[in-house]
Amino acid sequence: MPFDRQTLEALLARVDKPGRYLGNERGAIRKDPSRVRMRFALAFPEVYEIAQSHLGLQLLYDLLNRRADVYAERVYAPWLDFEALLREHDQPLVSLETLTPLSEFHVIGFSLQYELTYTNLLMMLDLGGVPLRTAERAPRDPLVIAGGPCAFNPEPLADFLDAVLLGDGEQAIDEICDAYLAWDQRDRTDLLRALSRIQGIYVPRFYEPEYATTGRLVAVRPTSPGLPPLVEKRVVPDLNTLPLQETHVVPNLKVVHARPSLEVMRGCVKGCRFCQAGYIYRPLRERDPRRVLAQAEHAVAVTGTEDLTLLSLSTGDYSCVNPVLTDLMNRFAAQRVAVSLPSTRVDSLAPALLEQIRRVRKTGFTLAPEAGSQRMRDIIQKEYSEEELIEAARQIFSLGWRSLKLYFMIGLPGETEADLAGIADLSAKVAAAGSRRCEVTASVSTFVPRPHTPFQWTAQIDLAETEARQSFLRRELHRRGLRFKWHDAGASFLEGIFSRGDRRLGAALLAAYRLGCRFDGWTDACRFDLWKRAFAETGIEPRDYLRRRYLDEVLPWDHLSGGVSKAFLQTELARAVERKLTPDCSVERCTYCGACDFTDVRNVTYHVKGARGGEHRGKIIDNWAQVTANSGPQPGSWEPRGWHRLQARLPSRGQKIAASPLLSPSPPPHSSPARVEEADGRAGLSTADEWLSASSDALAPTGAAHQAPARARVRLIYRKCGRARFIGHLELVDVFSRAFRRARLPVAYSQGHHAKARFRFGPGLPVGAESDCEVIDVYLAEPLAPEQVAAALAAQLPDGLSIVETTAVPLREPSPDTQMTGFRYRIGLASLLNGNGGAWIDERFTRFLQLPRFIMSKRTPGGPRDIDARPLVMRLERTGSDAAEIDLRFGPTGSVKPTDLLAAVLELDAAVTRALPVRKTHCFYGAADPQAS
Ligand code: SF4
Repeated sequence: MPFDRQTLEALLARVDKPGRYLGNERGAIRKDPSRVRMRFALAFPEVYEIAQSHLGLQLLYDLLNRRADVYAERVYAPWLDFEALLREHDQPLVSLETLTPLSEFHVIGFSLQYELTYTNLLMMLDLGGVPLRTAERAPRDPLVIAGGPCAFNPEPLADFLDAVLLGDGEQAIDEICDAYLAWDQRDRTDLLRALSRIQGIYVPRFYEPEYATTGRLVAVRPTSPGLPPLVEKRVVPDLNTLPLQETHVVPNLKVVHARPSLEVMRGCVKGCRFCQAGYIYRPLRERDPRRVLAQAEHAVAVTGTEDLTLLSLSTGDYSCVNPVLTDLMNRFAAQRVAVSLPSTRVDSLAPALLEQIRRVRKTGFTLAPEAGSQRMRDIIQKEYSEEELIEAARQIFSLGWRSLKLYFMIGLPGETEADLAGIADLSAKVAAAGSRRCEVTASVSTFVPRPHTPFQWTAQIDLAETEARQSFLRRELHRRGLRFKWHDAGASFLEGIFSRGDRRLGAALLAAYRLGCRFDGWTDACRFDLWKRAFAETGIEPRDYLRRRYLDEVLPWDHLSGGVSKAFLQTELARAVERKLTPDCSVERCTYCGACDFTDVRNVTYHVKGARGGEHRGKIIDNWAQVTANSGPQPGSWEPRGWHRLQARLPSRGQKIAASPLLSPSPPPHSSPARVEEADGRAGLSTADEWLSASSDALAPTGAAHQAPARARVRLIYRKCGRARFIGHLELVDVFSRAFRRARLPVAYSQGHHAKARFRFGPGLPVGAESDCEVIDVYLAEPLAPEQVAAALAAQLPDGLSIVETTAVPLREPSPDTQMTGFRYRIGLASLLNGNGGAWIDERFTRFLQLPRFIMSKRTPGGPRDIDARPLVMRLERTGSDAAEIDLRFGPTGSVKPTDLLAAVLELDAAVTRALPVRKTHCFYGAADPQAS
C-alpha cells in the first residue's frame, strides 16, 4: 500500500507528538518531484525537535533547493512509538515534504553530530528500505553519504556509508550533485571513484585497514594507486562568499532551538585541548558584520521570531560581538526581537555581554569552567583564572540571576583527587559570590578523548571509575550544600568506544541495532544490557577502545586530515604535560598548526588594524574598533584577555573617533564624545564596552511606542483542519505569535520588563481534532478594521489554518473561554460499523443517555482522575449512517475529550477512538442548550 497522507494521518492519531511527522511548516520547500533530475534526502538521525534545530542541515536545505535540478527534502528519526507503528503497518520511513520512501531518493546525506545516534542511522536506512551495507547496494539504491564532526572518524560506520564528507559542506555538496548527475547509473564503483576525486570526500570502501596478529591496527591503505593516502578536509576559506540563507523552516512544534541562528564565525583558535571542534574547524573565519546584520533582517522578516541567536563555537570571542549586538538590539527594539549568545567562555564574558544576555535568558545562567583546579585548567588550556570565574559569577548574580549552572568534566588526563575536590571548592566559592537565595549546580560529564585533538592519545576512565568519581563529587558537593548533576556513565562509555573506534565496531553496531538499540543518547531509551550482549556476540572487548594510545601507534583516522598536523597535536600534548598555555593565533602569533595555507585559507577576523595576528579585514570597522580600544581597563575591571592585549597595542586614551555608519546607521545619542568621557570614569566597565553596547535603556527591546496600551481588540474565528490538526495548543500560540509578527500587525504588549504580546485563545482543541470554530482575540496598539487584520494574517498562516470570521470586540469584554458553554463535535464512525450497520452503537448511546451518572477516567496533568461525565453530555446521537454528534458542556472545570468519552461509552480502547476523524463544528455561548443555539 503506498504511503499517502491519509495513511500517515491515521497512524499519527496513535503517536506522541504527531507534529514531528507532518512536514507542513512554513518555509518548507515544495517542488514538483517530476521536474527535478535529482532527489536528495537530508537525514538527521535524531528526533524532530533536535534535528530541526540544527543549523548545518538548514543551510544545506537552503543551498540544495536553490538548484532547479535538485529537490532536497528532510528525513528525521521516528521516535520509538512511530517506528513501531510503521513496522506494524509495513510502511517505510518517508520524507517530511512529499512522503517519499527513503529508498526512492538518489542521495541520502546524514548529519553525524554524535556517536550515540549511529543505531538510529541504521534504523532509518532499514526502515526506509535501503540495504544497510554499502556492499549490498545496487546501482538503483540511493548513495548514502555523511558529514559532520563524527565524519572525522567514520570508521565504525565504514560498512554502511558509501562516502563521507570531511569539513565544510556548502561548496562540496554542489560538486557531489554534479558528480551524481554525470554518472551513467550503471556501476556504483564509477560513481564512488568520481566522488573520491572531490576534495574532502572519503570513500571508506577504497581504503583497507590492516591489523597485526595482536589485533593492533598497523595501516589503513588506499586500495588503488590513484587515491590519496591522506584525505584532506574541505574548507570554505571565506564565509562571506556563501549566499545568505533564504529559507527558514519555522517549526510548528516546540524544538530545542526554535529561534533562528546566525552563524557569526566558524572555527575557534583558543586551543582547548579536549575540544574536537576547536581543531577540526580551524582556521577562525569570522563573518562580515554587515552580512550578519543583513541575515538577521531577513530571518526576522520571514520567521516572525522573537529571538535570534548569534551562533559559533564561542560567540563572545567574535571581534564584532558588542557592536553587532548593539546594532541588532537597536534595529529590532521596535519589533521586540531579543538576541542571545548560546556558548560563551568564562574569559570572554564582558559586562556588556552579560547585560545583553540577561535580556533573553530569564531562567538560569550556565558557565563552563570545565576544570576545578588551576593545575587542570593549565593542562586543558583554559585561560581563565579562579578570580575571573568568581567575578563573573558575582556580576551574573548582581544582574538578577538566581540560578547558575557550572559545567565540569571528570576523567581529564592527569586528574587527581585534589582536582576533583577543586570542582567542589570552586563551586562553593562561586556560590558564595551570590546571596543565600542563589542556587549553584555543578553539572559533570565524563571526558571522552576525541580524534584530531591533543588528547586523542589519552585513556578514558571506565564505568566503575566514572561512578566512583561521581560518588566522590556527590558527597563533596552535598557537604557544601550544592546541587550535583551528572551525565550517564554508560552513555559516556559508549561514546568513548565509538569516538575512537575502528572498522571492526561495525559488527557490534549492527548487532546492537538488531537487538533493538535506538536513541542511545537518551537515558530513558538506552539499553546498555543490549549493548553488552552485542559486544559479547561480536567478540569485541569494549574497554580496549578506552585505553591510552601510543604516540607512534597508527590511529584509525590517521588517513583523514582535520587540517591540523599530527606533529602539532603531539606538541600540544607535550605542552599540556608541562602545563604551558599556547597563544591564541588570532590575537598573537601563528603557532603553525597546519590549518592555514596563508594563500586562500587563513584566519579571517574583523578587528582593528594592527591589533591582532592574521590578515586585516576590518577596514570598515576600524573607526568604532579604535574607539573601543581607546579606553583601558579600570583597576579591578573584568574583560576578555584577548581584549586586554588588544587594548595594550592601540593608541592612547582620549582620542575620540565618530561611530561607524556601518554598525549604527543613525548614531545613538550615547555615542557622542561627552558620553564616552562620562563612561570612562565608571569602575568595572571599560569605556569601550560601555560605548559599544550603550546603556541598558537603549538596548532594551522595549520601545516606548510599543508599551502603548491596547486600543482595539479583534476576535478571529478560524478553521483548523488537515495537517494543522496535529499542532498542539501550546505550539499554536507560537504559530500565531510568529504569524502576527510576520504580518507586521501592531499587536499590543503587556506592561513590565518581560512584556508579552496580548492574545487570548479559546480552550485548547484535542490534538488530532479538526475545528471550524476556534477563537483567538488579539489586542492591537493601533485600531485596525477586523477585515484588515484578517487579510494580513491570512497570508502568514500555515496550511490548514484559515480565518473564517472576524469581529471587533470591546476591550473590556470577558475572554472567549469564559463565555463559552459548550461545543459540538462530529465524529466519523465508519471504521466501527459492522454488518448490522452499527446497531450496537445506537444501543450503547441509548443506554448511556438513560444513565443518571457515568463515571469514567479523565487524563489530567496530575494523572488519571475519575469524573462523572454524564452531566457534561447535552446530546449524543448518530447522524447519518457513519457519524455521530456529541454536544459537550464546557465550564470552569473544563470538559472531557470527545474521543475519550466515546471510548468509555462504547467500551473501546481509547487508542481506537482517538484514530477516528473528529471535527468541532459549533461553539455554544451563553445558553448551553444546543437547541437554542
Ligand atoms: S596555521 Fe597558524 S594562524 Fe592558522 S590556525 Fe594554525 S596556528 Fe592559527
